Amino acid sequence: MAVIEDVLAQCKEAAENPAAVLDKHLAAGKKVVGVGPYYMPEELVTAAGAVPFGVWGRVGAAEGARKYFPPFYCSIVQTTLEMGMDGTLDKLCGLMTSGLCDTLRGASQNYKVGMPHVPQIYVSQPQNRTSDGGKVYTLEAYKEAKRRVEEATGAIITDEALAEANKVHNAWRAAMREFVKQAGLHPAEVSISDRVNVINAGYYMDKPEHTELVNKLNAALAELPASQDGYTKIVLSGIYEDIPALEQILGDNKYDVVADDLAKESRAFSRVVPEEGDPLQALATSFVNLNGDSILYDPQKSHVSKVVDLAKQNGAQGVVLFLAQFCDPEEFDAPFVMKACKDAGIPAVSVQIDQSTESYEQVRTQLETFTDMVH
Ligand code: SF4
Repeated sequence: MAVIEDVLAQCKEAAENPAAVLDKHLAAGKKVVGVGPYYMPEELVTAAGAVPFGVWGRVGAAEGARKYFPPFYCSIVQTTLEMGMDGTLDKLCGLMTSGLCDTLRGASQNYKVGMPHVPQIYVSQPQNRTSDGGKVYTLEAYKEAKRRVEEATGAIITDEALAEANKVHNAWRAAMREFVKQAGLHPAEVSISDRVNVINAGYYMDKPEHTELVNKLNAALAELPASQDGYTKIVLSGIYEDIPALEQILGDNKYDVVADDLAKESRAFSRVVPEEGDPLQALATSFVNLNGDSILYDPQKSHVSKVVDLAKQNGAQGVVLFLAQFCDPEEFDAPFVMKACKDAGIPAVSVQIDQSTESYEQVRTQLETFTDMVH
């Protein structure tokens, strides 16, 4: 238990104090590049000898950013710009963002104007990614991203360094996939907030350091018997869950997240980069191969059946869909996900969340009712 407590404490400290982690990287002489959602080729940053640092907005209001965005823009982009405007991102030498949804695509232009002092590294991933043209386009976009990371960090990215970075990030994501599994088996040892802290710490800490910690934690958890009795097993779907008020409600309901389909969690950990051949091509291929996500174009909508499969495979008693406010891709898929769960006999509830919402009492009532329903 000492190892588990120690790792959880280290992750809590990092997750709750990203500014302190950032200062530690800078004090060690490292440059730091902010990395936003989704599926960014952050291996390029590691290959440049810099540290990729997660920037997915933050919990709180966006005041200044509102003059750049219509009110129906989601809180991730609103609060990211707010962070750029209030100086939170000043120590970054660049900010890597994608245009995978309409909101992000538009926001990339607002970012340039609203935080001109933070060099933008826009990665233009195509939605139509599996056609021959899509594959070529992805590779070209990643060549451009490489050039911009080199410009921002002042380093030259060699093939050797990128091949090594690909391995480092593959190892991290594999450790995180195992962690999600172990946390689901051990809710008594890893609370909802612990789980979120371990995940968020990975967005801020040096990847090899975090991988080592998580591997230690996974090994210690694997030695313990499962501790799921008395918990309600659920699958979480959506973009994010890391809002303290929500974590509290999930914990109060004694939920055990046996698996998740969250963009900031398991969807992000699913990418595998081939470790043979040209490393930049491999990085592009890892994006082309992705599927099962509301954010990715997919005529078969495999994202919908994926949620049902996750619930079935992990013995979940229900699915909780956290619908991020003003998120078009998720709103398009939500009715299909809910129907597929219903058709499969899996109880599901959809609740609306937002990083700038202060009160979650309505969500509390919805989830308490849902808990009663699944038992
Ligand atoms: S996918 Fe949704 S939450 Fe993410 S940036 Fe786009 S609109 Fe916002």
